[in-house]
Amino acid sequence: MTIDQLKHEIHTAIDRRGPEILALADDLWHHPETGFREKRTSRVVREKLTALGLPIHEYALTGFRADLDTGREGPVCALLGELDALLNPNHPDADPETGAVHACGHNTHIAAMTAAAMGLCDSGAAAHLCGKIAFLGCPAEESIELDYRSELLASGQIPATSGKASMILEGAFDDVDAAVMLHVGGHRAMDSNGVVLKCVTFRGLSCHAASPENGTNAADAIELARHALALLRERYSRESMVRIHGIITHAGEAVNILPGSASMEYMLRANRVELLTDLSHRFDLAMRGAALATGCKLELRTLPGAQPMHNDPELYRLCCNAFDSLHPGNDFVKEIYMSPGSTDMGDVSCVLPALHGEVPGVAGTSHGADFRIVDPECACLESAKVLTSIAVDLLYGNGDTGRQFARRKREEHISVEQYRKLREKLAGSGGEKEEGNE
Ligand SMILES: [Zn+2]
Ligand SMILES: [Zn+2]
Repeated sequence: MTIDQLKHEIHTAIDRRGPEILALADDLWHHPETGFREKRTSRVVREKLTALGLPIHEYALTGFRADLDTGREGPVCALLGELDALLNPNHPDADPETGAVHACGHNTHIAAMTAAAMGLCDSGAAAHLCGKIAFLGCPAEESIELDYRSELLASGQIPATSGKASMILEGAFDDVDAAVMLHVGGHRAMDSNGVVLKCVTFRGLSCHAASPENGTNAADAIELARHALALLRERYSRESMVRIHGIITHAGEAVNILPGSASMEYMLRANRVELLTDLSHRFDLAMRGAALATGCKLELRTLPGAQPMHNDPELYRLCCNAFDSLHPGNDFVKEIYMSPGSTDMGDVSCVLPALHGEVPGVAGTSHGADFRIVDPECACLESAKVLTSIAVDLLYGNGDTGRQFARRKREEHISVEQYRKLREKLAGSGGEKEEGNE
């Protein structure tokens, strides 16, 4: 069977499962769960993969890996899907109790990954491939609910606050030579910023607000700190893509009580690790300065978020070929664009060749109250066809193409141990724990 015939067989098998896949995506849309809480989502998808005869290994609390092993020596290609929803209670389809909603479309990502597994298994593709295809259900891509994740981290239930970072540190990618994930968007791929997360609390002394001389106002420290951060933005060039944004999570209980404590969460983003380190350091100086000026105590926690995402150009070329074969004669603007946002696929791209491609199928604002899936066939089934086409390109016959990625993984990417050290450096000292009190 030629490689094109094999892809055709797989794509036909995906189409045969179409109604089941679209029902899965719809079911997950109506049962959104945020990061590291995706118990139901994970169970529903794992049941589908188990029914295909794939063994499941669990990672990162709610994540998993299921391997289709061809039984022949060869490269390992990972196809990724994301499990988590985000929080936007203003969205009409948000869960009324939790406020969770799939306003980033991850329900279609995991449905597409499941469809890819079905297409490869139903068609008997393994007989024509070598190595393994690893299907990875990845939790907690969105950087939200930092307090909850900090508790999980402190109790040792996860090694990092994002899903893919946790799976890397737990060894899920150790033998993987290339990783492909498709997000809803356009016919393109996304490079993106890295991010560091900051949790800040200023502690002063509360008292009657009409007698402020008896206390220390922690909200004053917040005002000074935010002013310093506004000035800090001026330091960085436009090319650095630096973003500094945060929310005040707590700043007092009652208007007639001087706030005795006040807290903020911040995200610091930049397109290079060295810039992130510099930004993180200067953020800390600003917080210390605000604490010093107001006489407050400072509690500051640094959590490495995602690494900058660098798409592998060769994987992107295979992705574009797959688009072209599905849409002959198309005039899609195919490009790798730079997003100021972040994804933990960036962490994967640190340790091996990775692609964060996109497929269309959605409308409205990403993360917004008007976000919706308008073309589920494209978001789920076309995505699955592109995923499987790339896997076949890598593993067909003796897997010569995939072996090139294995070599480039060794030569051009850092090891998991080096990645672990990089995270520790970004966290300031010795890992993702409380970093400094003064
Ligand atoms: Zn998102
Ligand atoms: Zn997303």
